[in-house]
Amino acid sequence: MNSLQKKKIIEALKDQKAIFGDDLFEEKTNLTKSKTPASEIENISRVSSPRVTKVKEPKTSFSSSKKIIKGNWEKAESLEQLNSLICYCTNCVLHKGRNKFVFGSGNSNADIMVIGEGPGAEEDKQGLPFVGRAGKLLTDILKAIKFERDEVFIGNIVKCRPPDNRTPLPDEMETCIPYLRKQIELIKPKLILCLGLTAAKGLLKKKDSLTSMRGQVFEYEGIKTMVTFHPAALLRNPNWKKDCWVDVQKFRKLYDELP
Ligand code: URA
Repeated sequence: MNSLQKKKIIEALKDQKAIFGDDLFEEKTNLTKSKTPASEIENISRVSSPRVTKVKEPKTSFSSSKKIIKGNWEKAESLEQLNSLICYCTNCVLHKGRNKFVFGSGNSNADIMVIGEGPGAEEDKQGLPFVGRAGKLLTDILKAIKFERDEVFIGNIVKCRPPDNRTPLPDEMETCIPYLRKQIELIKPKLILCLGLTAAKGLLKKKDSLTSMRGQVFEYEGIKTMVTFHPAALLRNPNWKKDCWVDVQKFRKLYDELP
């Protein structure tokens, strides 16, 4: 192994340790005992130059939007237009407790879409997805696989906060998912990462367990889709971080191998 390869391995291990802590490693960090093949580590540490066209936080409200709220959101031609057409939605009970509609944020031309469950308290306050503690962890996880938060698009299964952060009910999900499907149609990502069972079930219409879905590559409308733990679950159970790391490495590899 030459010194450049060694340097890359050390950098990759430092990245992993910074994000996932010591519990990532079965044995204490020891380069000669690392189970990850060097070729894979090179893959992880390789700095990619993904397509980033525009980084933008969609607005959560528009002064003129009330005029077009009755317009047909299914015909929206941009995320901004879609947001303006749906952000006053009252189609399910969740709107009653809403402080802000959380449309989603990020690159409107993203190769990668990350999908969570629904806004929590902080998201509801700011009108942005994943800005609380789980959001900070998500940002770190993305960074660990060399994605900046604003080069991906982050959305949710439901766009209004469920009371007490409960799991959205099936009818709430069914009511809101068409908006997500429209977002995906407009963004046209190349890969989707579902965070947690609610996101996986909602998008993929699967009834399987998270354990059985992890590691597999599914297709949503021809878009390769993977499933991993929700960051909030990782905060509750840090032992799962190791498995999440395996999942997101695989996700990154899938991205690197895109045609
Ligand atoms: N959890 C989610 O699923 N989505 C968010 O936006 C925040 C926390």
